[in-house]
Amino acid sequence: MLQGGALDGVYRLVQFHIHWGSCEGQGSEHTVDGVKYDAELHIVHWNVKYGKFAEAVKHPDGLAVVGVFMKVGNAKPEIQKVVDALNSIQTKGKQASFTNFDPTGLLPACRDYWTYPGSLTTPPLLECVIWHVLKEPITVSPEQMCKLRGLCFNAENEPVCHMVDNWRPCQPLKSREVRASFQ
Ligand SMILES: [Zn+2]
Repeated sequence: MLQGGALDGVYRLVQFHIHWGSCEGQGSEHTVDGVKYDAELHIVHWNVKYGKFAEAVKHPDGLAVVGVFMKVGNAKPEIQKVVDALNSIQTKGKQASFTNFDPTGLLPACRDYWTYPGSLTTPPLLECVIWHVLKEPITVSPEQMCKLRGLCFNAENEPVCHMVDNWRPCQPLKSREVRASFQ
């Protein structure tokens, strides 16, 4: 569950996913002073007052997504369980069971964040997300990042198409206000 901060009410975790680049220096969907990170983790929650996820996405306060920048550096032990699971879902349509995982282990030590009202970054791009982008990145090892880049868009018996650069570029700010939780 996620609550407090810029949020009214309680938001329930539904999924997390990662966007990354084909090489270092790109991969994040948010930028800080124009600078991209190597990857960005999105931890997606929906507002329980709407009863279900599919209803929540119809409202501007329907989802709360925590964005965590990732950069190549020291290994992140807490993400290794995710990385290990990737071995069994290399291609499209595969599944791996995944239990007893505490997603708070994916967060950096500092919880300072920027927040703004925005959208999903994949179609249908609904304007239903209260974004929380953490200031402090987490680091993952080169080997951990390589495992992400080794995933494939294709199914097992199709030509290999590596899953890289699955990030959407920054969009115009328009009239949105970005606020910080810190001075
Ligand atoms: Zn995302």
